[in-house]
Amino acid sequence: MLDGMDTKIFQQLGRIAQKYPQIPWELLRGINFDGPLPVKRPELGPCWLWTKANVHGYGNFSQTKGGKGKSVSTYLTHRIVYALTIGKIPEGLVLDHLCERRPCCNPCHLEPVTHNENIRRSFVGKKLWLKEICKNGHELKGENLIIAADGARRCQACATIRFKKWRDENHAARSEWEKAYYQANKAKILARTVACNRARAQRKKATELT
Ligand SMILES: [Zn+2]
Ligand SMILES: [Zn+2]
Repeated sequence: MLDGMDTKIFQQLGRIAQKYPQIPWELLRGINFDGPLPVKRPELGPCWLWTKANVHGYGNFSQTKGGKGKSVSTYLTHRIVYALTIGKIPEGLVLDHLCERRPCCNPCHLEPVTHNENIRRSFVGKKLWLKEICKNGHELKGENLIIAADGARRCQACATIRFKKWRDENHAARSEWEKAYYQANKAKILARTVACNRARAQRKKATELT
């Protein structure tokens, strides 16, 4: 008898199986579709974590072909799920985990890149982790490095960009507001201007006369 949790998982598996009938059931069954969200890219949705055998942290899926265990093919789970849902992985490319979780096989978290690009990304990741660069790739040293009161290493270039963006947005918003105000109160503003001009002219006349 299934308890509540199992029923939920079962229903979810059913939905996924319906959406991707090309993924074999043995493969679907080994995936937790309710994984955590990627830390850096939560907009990509939850990770699909392979819960069974793995090698070097990557999911590892074996399939027996030809009935009586005659030939066993082993695949990396994320590669086979990608190939089944999105399509063939272009020749010579590797799949980069955008979520940085090796057992994840959510095709939306996988991007085919060259081996060099993959290495460059992990290199950038290491520099980011060591806070040698900011998340936008500016080097955190010399005048570009701000040490905050709490000891955090902040980027001057990013702070400047953020300030300029804020200034531009607020300026644009203000001039929009001013334009709208002018349109709504045109008659009143013009009347006041005319009155001011008249008053000024009269004052001038008065000083001329004395
Ligand atoms: Zn993932
Ligand atoms: Zn920066």
